[in-house]
Amino acid sequence: MDGLSLYRNIVDLCVSCRCGKCLDSCPIYRVVRREMVSPRGKLKVIHAYLKGEISPSESLLESIAYCTLCLACEVNCGINRLTSMHISMSRIIPSFRWELIKNGYELPQYKSIIDAVWKTDNIFGDVNHKSKQQIHSGDVEVIYWSGCVASVRRRNIDISISSILSKLKVDFKSLNNLCCGYPLYQIGYWKDLEAIIDKNMEVIRRLDSNTVVSSCPACIGFIRDFYPKIVEGKLPFRVKHISEVFQEYVESGDLKLNFEDRDIAVAYHDPCHLARYLNIYDQPRNILKNMNINLIEMEKNKLETECCGGGVRLVLPELSTTIAAQRILTIPKNTNYLLTSCPTCTINLGDGVTIAKVLYDFNTDVKVMDLAEFICQFIK
Ligand code: SF4
Ligand code: SF4
Repeated sequence: MDGLSLYRNIVDLCVSCRCGKCLDSCPIYRVVRREMVSPRGKLKVIHAYLKGEISPSESLLESIAYCTLCLACEVNCGINRLTSMHISMSRIIPSFRWELIKNGYELPQYKSIIDAVWKTDNIFGDVNHKSKQQIHSGDVEVIYWSGCVASVRRRNIDISISSILSKLKVDFKSLNNLCCGYPLYQIGYWKDLEAIIDKNMEVIRRLDSNTVVSSCPACIGFIRDFYPKIVEGKLPFRVKHISEVFQEYVESGDLKLNFEDRDIAVAYHDPCHLARYLNIYDQPRNILKNMNINLIEMEKNKLETECCGGGVRLVLPELSTTIAAQRILTIPKNTNYLLTSCPTCTINLGDGVTIAKVLYDFNTDVKVMDLAEFICQFIK
């Protein structure tokens, strides 16, 4: 796994540039308005750390917790746009967190996540031990990887996907209550990450499947791009987001969706981890287009989407829902449904609606749903 010093040159470059083009795209900075937690400020702190000007400390870990890893800053970054070098917050920030954790610092919120994953295989920790995933053997075509959030906090996504896959007669098995390890990677707890990945790979291998699908973009991205680094080699299965799978079935005509209410206005929120990490933004739209839905685009969409704050939901919950509420304030007027394709975005934006009404007197009846939950209602 990458050490922080690998990023010395790129961090130096930002510190000499300091253009600030990233500032307004950062969801954290837009709410907190403190230079220290802006993308530029965080890189300046890391620069000082790498030069030995500041020492590791709990307060440093606390300030670096202020990042959702949404990558919005990268889209507008002067260096990324104008040079062949690339500022990659998805690597730099977790590396810095790991550096501080290695030095013995910890946040109580991080500790809760780590303990929960170890005890229950789920970041929320409220999973009954007995319901922990058993290792099954067998031979199924597709594994539906539920992920922490859809397993316990938004069961309806699980139920909807299982129902759609069953109707499509897909030979699949659901794996619930297994954490892919990304939450630990993200907070910088890299100790034992390999053990979690090895354990998960063992579960997947025993089922001898050729495809792993999930509604969680973070799980998909982590399994697809990070697992091969640990298992040293190509994964013996494909990894797909559920919207890619549904799009294929819609295009082949096997998934027929019957939607007739032409007065319903639908907006779509692109999850950061789906759009910016995986470049998946057309697939959900193609499904909705196929249903002849009146899709209204949000002003910030696709690669320029705005974060819902979900990346700090367990660490900085108040900030997380404030960011979600601000995203809700940007939905087009009279939107009936706000759809997205990520369990974390779904629950966070749902909370954002409540906060937007209470805090900003925002008048809306919008219903937030995951795409799978939505289309499940209209299968012919
Ligand atoms: S990744 Fe997102 S939250 Fe983190 S600094 Fe960049 S814009 Fe801000
Ligand atoms: S836009 Fe890029 S180079 Fe400019 S301050 Fe932000 S991170 Fe640094």
